[in-house]
Amino acid sequence: MTKNISIIALDGPAASGKSTLGRTLADSLGYLFFDTGIMYRAITWIALQHDMDLRDETAITELAQNAQIDIRPSSKDDGRACDVVIGEKDVTWDMRGDDVDANVSVVSAYAGVRKALSEHQRRIGLRGRVVMVGRDIGTVVLPEADLKIYLDASAEERAKRRYEEIIARGENADYDEILKKVIERDRIDSTRAVAPLRPADDAVIIDSDKMDAAQVFNHVLELCK
Ligand code: C5P
Repeated sequence: MTKNISIIALDGPAASGKSTLGRTLADSLGYLFFDTGIMYRAITWIALQHDMDLRDETAITELAQNAQIDIRPSSKDDGRACDVVIGEKDVTWDMRGDDVDANVSVVSAYAGVRKALSEHQRRIGLRGRVVMVGRDIGTVVLPEADLKIYLDASAEERAKRRYEEIIARGENADYDEILKKVIERDRIDSTRAVAPLRPADDAVIIDSDKMDAAQVFNHVLELCK
């Protein structure tokens, strides 16, 4: 059924449901799920931990070229897709914190950072049987992907989903604040000079505003056939 679809690129803005879709799709196909956002988040987290000046492009680029980020099979059943380990510390959830959210788009706009990370992503993607999730997978990292999906949703819907996720974890959240941050991250991601967020010309664009996760998944599974 899925014989000819080996490389799947899944792009879209923040909180559009890419990770949920990517994970379910990879599980059902028996493919590797690779969330490239993790790498940009990990670099940002390390830089913040070391009080580095995020405006220092040279230093941040060197960090991206040399950082040892380990991605391991998930060791806990707490909603994670994998463990992200830096220097033996499990940083899987630290990387999802507000400070990383607020700064990751600055780090990911640097050409040298993108080059270092996307070369790595490309090597892994070209092995095939992969669902790779990000912002530039269909346009830059794996332009030869067999299927390209661009998963979109309005900023309001995405902020609502993010808000509900946080509340479900028993934490406090402010919808307006989340919406503001989602819009700002989209703005930086889609206006940067290198590899801006945009659908590839041959991507299938899915607007998930009025679709739940199961409907999106079934639709994409049909496209794999
Ligand atoms: O997908 P996620 O929200 O975890 O991504 C975090 C940030 O990493 C994005 O806002 C974007 O700045 C950057 N990113 C990117 N290219 C990718 C994946 C993520 O620029 N392929």
